[in-house]
Amino acid sequence: MSAAPLKESIHAISLERLRTRLKEAGHPGYRAEQVLEWVYQKRVAGFDQMTNLPAALRATLAQEFAFHALDPVRVLGAEDTTRKYLFRLADGALIESVLIPASPALYGEASDRRTLCVSTQVGCAYGCKFCASGLDGWSRNLGAGEIVGQILRVEALSGERISNLVFMGMGEPLANFANLTAALEILNSPWGVGIGARRITISTSGLAPQIRMLADNPMQVRLAISLHGATNEVRQQIMPVNRKYPLETLLEACAYHAERKKQRITFEYILIENVNDREEDAVALVKVASKIKAKVNCIPYNSVEGLEWNRPDEARQDDFMAVLERGGVSATIRREKGHDIAAACGQLRRQTLPSNAVADLGFAEAQGMGSAKDAGS
Ligand code: SF4
Repeated sequence: MSAAPLKESIHAISLERLRTRLKEAGHPGYRAEQVLEWVYQKRVAGFDQMTNLPAALRATLAQEFAFHALDPVRVLGAEDTTRKYLFRLADGALIESVLIPASPALYGEASDRRTLCVSTQVGCAYGCKFCASGLDGWSRNLGAGEIVGQILRVEALSGERISNLVFMGMGEPLANFANLTAALEILNSPWGVGIGARRITISTSGLAPQIRMLADNPMQVRLAISLHGATNEVRQQIMPVNRKYPLETLLEACAYHAERKKQRITFEYILIENVNDREEDAVALVKVASKIKAKVNCIPYNSVEGLEWNRPDEARQDDFMAVLERGGVSATIRREKGHDIAAACGQLRRQTLPSNAVADLGFAEAQGMGSAKDAGS
């Protein structure tokens, strides 16, 4: 006997679609607003808690939808620093979300900025050389409800309100375009989670066709590109995707996005000693960044076991930044660890948390965590 199909997650449906579904089932359309108010404002965990709704409507909802809460397996990190949440999904797959408090150096001591780094896939097919997410390849896309669920679950577990989102966790967000944009609508809408579009950043390894699709989407979310090389020769060593979408193609898509959105793109650039941190690399970076007026965010490489790459020393980092400055590029470098996100997608899992920072909050121990390729933890 085959198992009954999973009901649709209530966290995956838009107001408009819910309205249509309720009308089809014979309920008034205005009930959709009330349902989503219970879900996103009052944050209930079941339809039986929606006490101002008629029993017949609650029965319809329970028949068609489900609350698929993510199962927290483990939390790593302390309250004032980066916290990683490892979640188990309904099919047993593991993903992670990372909560990053504001850096006092950047935003002041009083800042209540809380950024969540969100996953969009189980595994990843893109194999960027600095990233552990792709080591086991791609397993599946996350549904919109599983993407939205990360924000809801982390807010519930931490007791903190998330102000900013970065799609830099496990997976290539633009390779899961339909579920990503469905989730974005829910996360951004006033009837949903209500996070401002400009506080949401999508980070991509450089999928040129989807960058154009995102440019045509009316939502004003921000775009960051994992660049890491400003010539095809250098970029190819780090980003295999560059063979499919070489720099020229990527830059054309970026220019299209910048023009359509009237928005500046950010290039993320991990500085790796003798791979992409030479003077000629900086000069090439000035050229490509200037072409589309992109901002550049440099991140000194954090060593990874099994890779021969090294972090350049600070003098070398300064020399690189000086070339960017002389070239008139708006660039920052993030050397601080544990506070702010400044990484390319996948970079976060590289951060090693000391074992004494593990806060086992009484959740079930992660079984097979090692296979999650959560290299830093
Ligand atoms: S950096 Fe992003 S796109 Fe690249 S392998 Fe890692 S998760 Fe995938």
